[in-house]
Amino acid sequence: MNSLKLLFFSTPVGVIGSGLGGGVELTLRNISQEMINRGHSLQILAPIGSTLNGLPITQISGNLQIVAQSQNRDAPIIMPENSVLANMWEYAYQVRNHYDLLLNLAYDWLPFYLTPFFDRPIAHFISMGSLTAVMDSVIERTLDRFPGTIGVHSYAQANTFSFGDRCRCLSNGLDLSLYQFCLEPQNYLAWVGRIAPEKGLEDAIMATQQIGIPLKIWGAMPDHAYWQTICQKYPNAAFSYEGFLPTDQLQAALGQCRGLLMTPKWVEAFGNVAIEALACGVPVIAYRRGGPSEIIQQGKTGWLVEPDSIEGLVEALDRLDYIDRRTCRQHAEAKYSMQAMGDRIEAWFRDMLALGNREQG
Ligand code: UDP
Repeated sequence: MNSLKLLFFSTPVGVIGSGLGGGVELTLRNISQEMINRGHSLQILAPIGSTLNGLPITQISGNLQIVAQSQNRDAPIIMPENSVLANMWEYAYQVRNHYDLLLNLAYDWLPFYLTPFFDRPIAHFISMGSLTAVMDSVIERTLDRFPGTIGVHSYAQANTFSFGDRCRCLSNGLDLSLYQFCLEPQNYLAWVGRIAPEKGLEDAIMATQQIGIPLKIWGAMPDHAYWQTICQKYPNAAFSYEGFLPTDQLQAALGQCRGLLMTPKWVEAFGNVAIEALACGVPVIAYRRGGPSEIIQQGKTGWLVEPDSIEGLVEALDRLDYIDRRTCRQHAEAKYSMQAMGDRIEAWFRDMLALGNREQG
C-alpha cells in the first residue's frame, strides 16, 4: 500500500496517559505505532498534557468533554465552553489538505456532524455500543452518506445499533512483545478497568469473597465516591486497589494473577484488558456480554458466565485450573497481534480510499 498521510483524533474526555479515555488510549497507541511501522506518516490530535510513547502528538487546548456512558438515552448533546473537541476539529480543518485520511476515535457527536463538511475521507472507529438516540442517529446518517466509514470492535457492539450490519468489525490488537508470558502465577485474581458503575466491579468482589482468593484491582478512578461506596459495602472482602499503571508495569503485575475477572454491566464494545491478560497467559472469566464473549474460547482461554450471575463466576473460578496458560498466550498471538490488527485497519483505509469517500444518494 502506498504511504499515507494520516491525521488521528484522540478522545476529548481525557488526557492520554490518564486512563480516563479507557481502552481508546491503548487502541490509539497501537494503531498509530503499527501505521508508522508500515511506513505511513501520521499526526495525532489530543488534549494538552497527552503523552504517547514518543508518538507525534499535536496538543490541543480546551475543556474536556463529558463522558457519554453516564448519560440517559434521550440526553441532548452538551459541549463545554472552549471545547477541546471543537478546537481539535477547527485545527484539523485548517490542516486537512496535508492528509489523505482522517481517523476519529471519539465517541462524540461533533466529528460525525462535521464529516460532510470536510473534503477528506473520515474514518470513525467507535469505542462503545448504542448509548443515546442522538448519537445513534448521527452515526447512522454518516453511514448512509459515507458507507464503509464506521468501524466497530465486535459484532456484539455492532448489534446494539439498528444499522450494525453495515459497520466494519475490526477487533483490536497489541504489541505482544510488551507482554511477558507468565506460567506460574501467585494465588490472587485480577480485575482491570475504569472504576465506574458500568464495569460492575462489585460482582467481582462478591465472587472472590465467596471463593476466598484475594482480588487485585488496577484502573483509573474517575469517581472516587463510587470507590468509597464499594469499600464501605464490603468491609471484610479481600480486595486491594493497586493504582493505574503504565502498560509495562500493568502487564508484569497482571501476569502474576491466576485469572482476570470481567463483570461488565453494559455491552462492553471490546475489552482490551481481556486480550492483555491472554497475552500474559492469564485466563479470563467474563460475563457472556459484549466483546469478551467473542474473545474468550469457552474452556480453552477462560470461561464465559451467565451475565450478572455471581454463582456462575464462583463456579468458573473453581474451574480456573482447567485452562492451560500457554493456550491463552497462543490465542493472543494468533488473533490479536499488531500485524493482524494492522492488516485489518489498512484494508479498511484502502477500501475507503478506493470508494473515494464520495457521498451517496
Ligand atoms: N489500563 C492501564 N493501566 C491500568 C489499568 C488499565 O493502562 O492500571 C488500561 C488497559 O490497558 C486498557 C484500558 O485501561 O487499555 C481499559 O480499556 P478496556 O477496553 O478494557 O475498557 P474501557 O475503559 O475502554 O471500557
